[in-house]
Amino acid sequence: MIVILKQNADQAQLAQLENWIRAEGLDIHKSEGVNSTILGLVGDTSKIDIDLLGALDIVENVKRVSEPYKSVNRKFHPKDTVVDVGGVKIGGGNFAVIAGPCSVESESQICEVAEAVKASGAAMLRGGAFKPRTSPYSFQGMRGEGIELLEKAKAKTGLPIVTEIMDISQLPLFDNVDVIQVGARNMQNFELLKALGKVNKPILLKRGLASTIEELLMSAEYIMAGGNEQVIFCERGIRTFETATTRNTLDLCAIPVLKERSHLPVIIDPSHATGVARLVKPMCIAATAAGADGLIIEVHNDPAHALCDGKQSLTPEAFDDVMKAVEAIRPYAYKMGE
Ligand code: PEP
Ligand code: MN
Repeated sequence: MIVILKQNADQAQLAQLENWIRAEGLDIHKSEGVNSTILGLVGDTSKIDIDLLGALDIVENVKRVSEPYKSVNRKFHPKDTVVDVGGVKIGGGNFAVIAGPCSVESESQICEVAEAVKASGAAMLRGGAFKPRTSPYSFQGMRGEGIELLEKAKAKTGLPIVTEIMDISQLPLFDNVDVIQVGARNMQNFELLKALGKVNKPILLKRGLASTIEELLMSAEYIMAGGNEQVIFCERGIRTFETATTRNTLDLCAIPVLKERSHLPVIIDPSHATGVARLVKPMCIAATAAGADGLIIEVHNDPAHALCDGKQSLTPEAFDDVMKAVEAIRPYAYKMGE
C-alpha cells in the first residue's frame, strides 16, 4: 500500500501516522521527493482501512498495490483448485453442468427433470427449495419439503444436489445437500458467509446483482477465511443500463478476470443472466468458449406452467440440444495463458 502525503505535511501529524502504521505491524519505506513524500507500507495490509487513511489531513491519496484477499488469491495459490462433489469435479480442466428447475414443485416434477438432464449429460441437479422472490406474494418455495424431494431425486438418479440457502437458521436442513448455493441477493450476507466457512461442503457463490468482481472475491474470502476452501464462483448477470430483451447483462469477462485473480473455479448461469430461454444456448456456447469451468442451467418439464422463472427455463429437449452444442465447443475452449 502506498500513501502519498500532501505537500508540506505537518511533521507532528506525520510522526503520529508513522507510529500508528508501525503499531499495526508494518514497516515503512519513505521516499522524499521534491514535490511530495510517499510512504510505502510493507507487510500484511489487508486489515488497514484505506478510507480512514485517505481521510487524514496530511494524506493526498492512498493506493493498494496488493489485493485485500489472500486465500482466494492466485498469487498465493498458483494452481487451479478442483472442487470435488462426490466424484464430480469442477475446475482445473474439469467441466461440469448443473441443471434443473428454478424451484422444486413436486416429486414427479423434480424426478422427471432429474432423469432427463442426467440422460443429456448433466453432472448435478439444481432446484430451489428456499426462493428469494421480489414479491412476498410469489411462490416462496417448498422449503424443507423441497429439500426432501431433491434427496429423492438424488436417490433415483445419483446426481449430487445443489440448492440455495437464504438464512443461517436453515443450515440443519442442508445435511444431505451436496453443494450449498448462496444466491445473488445474499452474496454480501457476511454472517451467512462466515457460517458457511465452517461447513465442510462446496459453496456455489453467485455474484450479486450490482457487485463488483472485487466484492465477489472478498465474499469468497469470507468463506475461505473460516476454513472452507471449496468455493465455486458463479457469474449470473449484473444490472446495467441495458434493458433490451435481457433480464441482466452477462459479464463474460468475469471468467478470465476471476481466473487471473483467483484459483477457484468459475461457472456461468445463462438462465438468470438472460431471463429468456432462447438466449441460453448462445450464452452457453460463449461461456464455454471463454473458459468457464461449468454452467448452471434452468430446465423445466413444463416451462409454461413453472411456478418460477418459466420464461428462462429450457425444456429437456432444448437442454439436450444445448449440451450437444457445448460438447462441440469444449475442445476449442480458451485456457488461461494461451
Ligand atoms: C436461482 O439460482 O434460482 C437464483 C435465485 O439465482 P440468483 O441468486 O442468481 O438470482
Ligand atoms: Mn430461477
